[in-house]
Amino acid sequence: MAIEVTRTYVGSIQNHRQVRDGLDSLGDSASKIWNVARWTADRIWDVIGEIPDEGVLKSYMKNQSCWKDLNAQSSQKVIEELSDAFQSWFDLRQKDSKANPPGYRKQGDTRPKSTVTFKADGFKHDPKNNRVRLSKGSNLKEHFSDFLLCEYQTRPDVDLSEVNSVQNVRAVWNGDEWELHFVCKVTLETNESAGDDVAGIDLGITNLATVAFPDEYVLYPGNSLKQDKHYFTQAEYDTEGENGPSSKSMWARRKLVDRETHFFHVLTESIITECVERGVGTLAVSWPEDVRESDWGTTGNKKLHSWAFDRITQYLAYKGEMRGVEVLKKNEWDTSKTCSNCGDTTKSNRVERGLYVCSSCELVGNADCNGAENMRQKITPSPHGEDRSNGCVAQPSTYLFDRESGMFRTREQVVS
Ligand SMILES: [Zn+2]
Repeated sequence: MAIEVTRTYVGSIQNHRQVRDGLDSLGDSASKIWNVARWTADRIWDVIGEIPDEGVLKSYMKNQSCWKDLNAQSSQKVIEELSDAFQSWFDLRQKDSKANPPGYRKQGDTRPKSTVTFKADGFKHDPKNNRVRLSKGSNLKEHFSDFLLCEYQTRPDVDLSEVNSVQNVRAVWNGDEWELHFVCKVTLETNESAGDDVAGIDLGITNLATVAFPDEYVLYPGNSLKQDKHYFTQAEYDTEGENGPSSKSMWARRKLVDRETHFFHVLTESIITECVERGVGTLAVSWPEDVRESDWGTTGNKKLHSWAFDRITQYLAYKGEMRGVEVLKKNEWDTSKTCSNCGDTTKSNRVERGLYVCSSCELVGNADCNGAENMRQKITPSPHGEDRSNGCVAQPSTYLFDRESGMFRTREQVVS
């Protein structure tokens, strides 16, 4: 079966030195349009007592001189972003009366480099030669046919000449340099479901992923990630100069991002392959919202982990889609508290040194496995471990990432 999906591919700009100034002024203009629109919204708000909607704001903004700094569609996109920001603020205010409305884009006396989106008539893509032409607004053009020609490179396994269509292109400042994001429509040949069996995943801090397959529990520690982070953070620290980060520390930073991306790809690829080989057609992923604040404090940075979990879930979903494994993301608050063996949720059940101890049925097992098993049972017809022996909760297998081969290695029956 063929399905059409949206994918975003990142391209690094090869002629950055030539196009940087041009992109800087476009990014600055996008911030300026945002600020003028934000100010305009305030004035209208004062007069009519409510925030103008997108259409009203666009028609006001079209008469402002800064509107023509960007291609008209790019300017419109900035207003759409501002309207979305106001909408999120309305939604947030229902829960939190102290929530702040969207602010101005300012960094001291200057403006940050905002993302600039180029829609249909704002870019011309030449995938054969890895080039894309980005249009400027008439205010920034030196002559009629003035534009920015970016040469880019994508990941080796991505070929943009094979995608059905590029919907839009975004120029994004990543903190060090500009990069291009290609939002594409892609047709995928999907496989029939990999099978009727189900599995559950618990994402966590000690074990990045714990998978409850029908016949086995597998732990995927984030060992390699931690070592990388330590090494590269050290390298950055050692080379941080008086005039900001040195080129060596920039290299270390980029290297870390590359290695993380590789690790997440290999991890999710490995999990999906295990699912296919075991006839698992449905995979439930827990969103670890019930991690206690105190755990974050001692073992990890909450923002970094949320980002990692988000990434793992996204990769699983799109790799699963192609290979017949449906990935369900579930927000569950009680998966770590419930006993996967008897379903007991009493408070006397506890987690000690990574072990879940049930006071009702006397189950003692790996806490992450217990969480993953609970996820599996959310979507399995036979509840509370009736379809399996519980020995495996106590004796999971650990698949370690092997830095030399860049793959996960099976290590049999490691008792945790
Ligand atoms: Zn129990």
